[in-house]
Amino acid sequence: MNGMDFKIIDSHSHPGYERKDIEKRPGCTLMWFGAQNPSSAMIRAALGDPEPWKPITKIEEIPDFGVDYWIKYMDDMGISHMGLQAMDTESDPPLSWRWQVPYEYVKKEFIDKYPDRFWGIGGIHYKLGPEHSLEQVEKAKEFGFPGVKMFTVLEGYPNDREKCYPIYERCVKLGLHVEFHVGVEDVPGARFKYSDPIYIQDVAMDFPDLKIVMLHCGFFLSPERAVGICAMQPNVYTDITNALSIFMDLKKYTYDLEHLRVLEQFIPDKVWYGSDFPVTHAWQKTTIARLKDLPLSVEFKRKLLRDNAAKFFLGKTPEMLAAEKVTTQWSRVDIEAK
Ligand SMILES: [Zn+2]
Repeated sequence: MNGMDFKIIDSHSHPGYERKDIEKRPGCTLMWFGAQNPSSAMIRAALGDPEPWKPITKIEEIPDFGVDYWIKYMDDMGISHMGLQAMDTESDPPLSWRWQVPYEYVKKEFIDKYPDRFWGIGGIHYKLGPEHSLEQVEKAKEFGFPGVKMFTVLEGYPNDREKCYPIYERCVKLGLHVEFHVGVEDVPGARFKYSDPIYIQDVAMDFPDLKIVMLHCGFFLSPERAVGICAMQPNVYTDITNALSIFMDLKKYTYDLEHLRVLEQFIPDKVWYGSDFPVTHAWQKTTIARLKDLPLSVEFKRKLLRDNAAKFFLGKTPEMLAAEKVTTQWSRVDIEAK
């Protein structure tokens, strides 16, 4: 083999769009209802819908793809583990678009069923103030999530001392890391000014013991800034998640060869892969194949696609992971037997 025969870790995906109880997850029906868009049609086509452009008008018409579908997909793609983003956020008035994927849903429907294939990240609705935020941080810890996410584009500046700093203090105390959306975003009401990586440096400076992950590496906004901050601040890491990669594969920026060479040179141990699945369902296989094929060192590609995320999220070395035989059956918890 050429050293590329290894399982991948996909650090960044979005449960919630599955049909079951979707009406209890605000915002998630946006993927399926309303104006038809290429993303929606491509996911439906990838899920086997023979008429992916036909408007969906009823809940019953929403694709039904629960955790067993996810596991089969991961096995087909050679993905051993996925990180799951719980969400809790709302855009500014008058739009006030709500997006919520409860921690309970992520835990019950995914992690409890396949605990060795997934981990969860808690979403913090920090607009509501520190009291609510701290409850969400404590709940993330209680649920066994390794970290929490700040969805800057809807929630506001991540270096807001009053709203955000108590969250970081508590995360340091509890041993949780914090993830920040850094880069453009196309959900309703998104304001990109909040997602400039420059504000992450304040947090990194003021909380040197807090582990920070930049999601999307400043994608389509200021990737150079994101890499610069990651290179200069010891406690800052980044993923390369790029939901628009169908339009940008191998172009500026996220999966671009020159960009990845900069990452290899400056932050080889602080960067890892993520997909934004299921948005990327239709083309993720191509993306992974291309990433594996790029003229970068095999050592860096292993770090990017597996080893760095294994260390950060799972606390496991490549040797420890190699000793584990991940199969569907091996990790299945028989919940019916309980
Ligand atoms: Zn995402």
